[in-house]
Amino acid sequence: MPNVWKLRIEQNFGILEFDTPEKEVNVLDSKAMEELRGILKDVSQKKEIRALLVASAKQKIFIAGADIKEIDGIREKKDAFDKAENGKAILQMIEDLKIPTIAVINGACLGGGFELALACDWRVASFSDKVKIGLPEVNLGILPGFGGTQRLPRLLGLVKALPLILAGKIVSSESALKNGMVDRLFSEVTLLGNAVHFAEEVLKGSVKRRKQKAPWFLEKTPVGRALVFHMARKDILKKTKGQYPAPLKTLEVIQKTFGKDSTKGYRFESEVFADLALTAISKNLIKLFYMHERYKKVAWTQFEGKVQRVKKCGVVGAGVMGGGIAQLVSYKNIPVRIKDIQPQALGGALKEAQKIYDQARKRRKLKKHECEYKMGLISVGLSDDGLKRADMIIEAVVEDMGIKEKVFEHLSRITEAPTVLASNTSALSVTRMAEVSRYPERVVGLHFFNPVSRMPLVEIIKTDKTSDETIERTIRFARDLGKIAIVVKDVRGFLVNRLLLPYMNEAAFLMEEGVSQEAIDKAAVQFGMPMGPIELVDHVGIDVGYKVAHILHEAYGERMKPAKVLETAKDKGLLGKKSGKGFYLYKGRKKTPNQDLQKTIGKKLSMSSDEIQKQLIYIMVNEAARCLEERVVEEPSSIDVGMIMGTGFAPFRAGLLHYADDEGIGKVVEGLKKMSESKRAGRLRPCDYLVKMADSGKTFYS
Ligand code: NAD
Repeated sequence: MPNVWKLRIEQNFGILEFDTPEKEVNVLDSKAMEELRGILKDVSQKKEIRALLVASAKQKIFIAGADIKEIDGIREKKDAFDKAENGKAILQMIEDLKIPTIAVINGACLGGGFELALACDWRVASFSDKVKIGLPEVNLGILPGFGGTQRLPRLLGLVKALPLILAGKIVSSESALKNGMVDRLFSEVTLLGNAVHFAEEVLKGSVKRRKQKAPWFLEKTPVGRALVFHMARKDILKKTKGQYPAPLKTLEVIQKTFGKDSTKGYRFESEVFADLALTAISKNLIKLFYMHERYKKVAWTQFEGKVQRVKKCGVVGAGVMGGGIAQLVSYKNIPVRIKDIQPQALGGALKEAQKIYDQARKRRKLKKHECEYKMGLISVGLSDDGLKRADMIIEAVVEDMGIKEKVFEHLSRITEAPTVLASNTSALSVTRMAEVSRYPERVVGLHFFNPVSRMPLVEIIKTDKTSDETIERTIRFARDLGKIAIVVKDVRGFLVNRLLLPYMNEAAFLMEEGVSQEAIDKAAVQFGMPMGPIELVDHVGIDVGYKVAHILHEAYGERMKPAKVLETAKDKGLLGKKSGKGFYLYKGRKKTPNQDLQKTIGKKLSMSSDEIQKQLIYIMVNEAARCLEERVVEEPSSIDVGMIMGTGFAPFRAGLLHYADDEGIGKVVEGLKKMSESKRAGRLRPCDYLVKMADSGKTFYS
């Protein structure tokens, strides 16, 4: 195996470059670490080296972190502990060198990579957008195990370091300079030359460390520090609902070690790392990381990488979704034209887009001129002008097949190849829209979720006629918009709504059995859902939810029959959150159950959280099994990615089907059987596919 570290000496400066041959990224695996140990020993003995610069030979990566595969493979606590201790010992060799050490950062400098940089005396980086610096370990359910919990708070102070470590925040080079994570920024092309020059200045003693302006009371007094830790804990609990142990454990490490003997601090960090690395939650978060990485680039067709990027986009329908889509497209610097039949809708879409840009400016994500430029990429009109030259047109008009048919028939007449016509429908037949179009092979579904700018998933709906090239162009477009795409067969509700509707419907059935809506919502949140199913119905809109439920009932029959209470809510004209009245009544930030609906139920039934969770989740597993049987998607991971990215399904469970496998398919089948018998509810009967899996001892991922 060739070496990954290369040391050269230029004018008495040691330049140590990291480059894993034939790999896109540099990671600190065991081999790289051992090699580094040997080189550092060499460097310490070479008297001619006056300063050491640590850099990467790769264009986009400094060091992406430790090797996640190795962390995932750890099965014994002792191995985890030794791994952390070994890494620390090697980075300590950098800190112990008698010469100045400088990390030269271009590209991603994450996790173990940043911990290595922290062991250097100085850090310089390029101005490039490629620079991303941080300690994202908590997102994998672990903590920075190579000394990060000790060195970063020492460098920045508690107030600045805690949010970075506890939220696994990744920052740009500019932010890193501002908060003291790096000492200088240089242009990308002259980075190494400037770093050498910087080293000369350091040797001359002419570089001064920037003083961190830490608030004295909070950093230096026991009361102040206690307050900082208290607030940090509160913040973690609010964000994670206590479901993720890593941030809390990391906080404990910092709280117990900050400002104390560093040897003990490092050791405690290794011990906690070892505990966390073995948790099921960490293993699940690593699975999720791999799924996410895979779906960012997985090849779906033979046209992968061979299609043109979308250069101009059209959106038809300037409502909630059309407006949101147009804003996102402009955000990614693609010109977009919106057409609607109502001038006020066009005005509304522009106003909404402006609002999102104003927020981005306030949060300093974008500068004023960038917002103006991007806003300028959106144009609107009542005619077809500007649509004819678009190479991707997204239809987002009202959910009505008659109207959509007319729109598709018209659009396919006014546009030519290679324009793709995509529908954002939630549940209607894309096949039908293709049938009325002049070129069905270029018709596809492109299902965004609300709110478009924040939801990471899109479903790409393939009909029998959609060409592979169209699929590929749509995937590429979705990826250019920063979305994770899954390809789904054209069935009613596609994948995500087909699974989510039974979940919401089941919650309504539970209400009818007499379980309080608060108990139902609480149980779902405890399971790890971002909000309870009853509150979700209000968020989606009772009118919209009912319409989709109705479409699914028609398509799938009795098992998707909407619960009566949904119908009652709809008949009472309740719309949900948008009108302030739904299953809950909304006043400002407060919500209280709507007694008007409660009265229609009357009876009361107490059920444990566990029972509620099983009824809500098992029914989704059952429907997911049917989806696999019907090949709505090709792999179980598409379902897990779809549910996590499209609905916020408990990420620490690595998705619905990983959860089902962990639970045991036999247990799920038994549970469904029992529920369907005791409640006399056919919809809860386990499907044949699931029963066969249980009988043959198969799991979704086996
Ligand atoms: P909306 O009612 O907010 O907007 C629809 C817009 O389409 C209106 O401005 C209307 O004037 C316009 N319109 C109607 N007929 C038209 C025509 N012939 N030509 C041009 N414009 C026309 O609807 P929405 O919530 O944005 O939903 C749009 C589509 O997106 C629907 O198919 C819906 O199912 C789907 N969708 C909605 C959501 C959601 O949460 N709202 C989520 C995913 C998908």
